[in-house]
Amino acid sequence: METSSLAQRLSTRFVAGETLDQALAVARKLNAEGITVTLDHLGESVSTLAEAAEARDVYLRTLDAIHKNGIQGGVSLKLTQFGLDLSYEQCLSNVEQLVRRAADLGNYVRVDMESSDYTDRTLDLVHTLHDRYQAVGVVIQSYLYRSQADIEKLCAARIGVRLCKGAYLEPAAVAFPQKRDVDRNYVELARNLLERGVSPGLATHDEAVIRQICQFVTERKISRDSFEFQMLYGIRRDLQRRLVAEGFRLRLYIPFGKAWYPYYMRRLAERPANVFFMLRNLFRS
Ligand SMILES: Cc1cc2nc3c(=O)[nH]c(=O)nc-3n(C[C@H](O)[C@H](O)[C@H](O)COP(=O)(O)OP(=O)(O)OC[C@H]3O[C@@H](n4cnc5c(N)ncnc54)[C@H](O)[C@@H]3O)c2cc1C
Repeated sequence: METSSLAQRLSTRFVAGETLDQALAVARKLNAEGITVTLDHLGESVSTLAEAAEARDVYLRTLDAIHKNGIQGGVSLKLTQFGLDLSYEQCLSNVEQLVRRAADLGNYVRVDMESSDYTDRTLDLVHTLHDRYQAVGVVIQSYLYRSQADIEKLCAARIGVRLCKGAYLEPAAVAFPQKRDVDRNYVELARNLLERGVSPGLATHDEAVIRQICQFVTERKISRDSFEFQMLYGIRRDLQRRLVAEGFRLRLYIPFGKAWYPYYMRRLAERPANVFFMLRNLFRS
């Protein structure tokens, strides 16, 4: 899929392109519309430490390019891409090089959250690097029962959180099976972060949830500069524009790179209607 030219055309719906230059071009355009960005070099679960080192080097180049081009934005990464399945120590060392560079450049690294097998190790690593450099934050998923307790610890350590619902298939032993519970927990955790968190990133396209958040910040007189909404590139562009027009801060997560297939399939799985749009584009082109 990743090398077929037809499939590559389809991926442009959610992916900025295969190269860093393409991602920077998209970032520049969004910055001009008042939207900040997070660049994500696609890839997960590398099988050798050499691949993990390569991923680190791509990210170091990305941070340098963001700085050189004056882009308003940072980077997001997945620890399995930095070697977490192979060696915690090596992964820590790879991410440390990146966070140190981000700190030197006045930038920031966001560590994405993967499936629940990785939650403890991800939080350990982020706490460790935050103690040393500050320039790092993490993602918390509202579908996990543990998230309230994790947020308590992160807020106490003044670590920035991006809140999302969660994109992996998890067992009922660790995650709410019902969507309405995931949504309810999202709003509860978001309120918590708005009152106590460090520049929370509220990552969702759910209009009902966003409405409740807007109502909460108005009632509590919480400054619109103290948090941001975050969305994925290519999803709910109408809602993105509306929030910016209403004076809310918005950041878009911009994936780029050749390894787009798992990311693309998660986006299709989230919304079956996307499969229809994909097929319609396929037959149009
Ligand atoms: C910036 C950002 C970073 C993220 N980082 C992580 C992470 O680190 N770890 C993780 O597990 N998950 C991450 N996610 C994914 C997240 O967990 C959800 O899977 C995803 O955002 C869909 O949930 P939702 O909150 O938009 O609500 P949903 O209830 O799933 O969707 C609400 C509405 O949003 C729209 N929508 C949602 N998804 C799509 C789609 N794929 N295509 C078209 N429309 C859609 C639809 O209108 C839908 O009705 C991230 C999401 C964002 C926005």
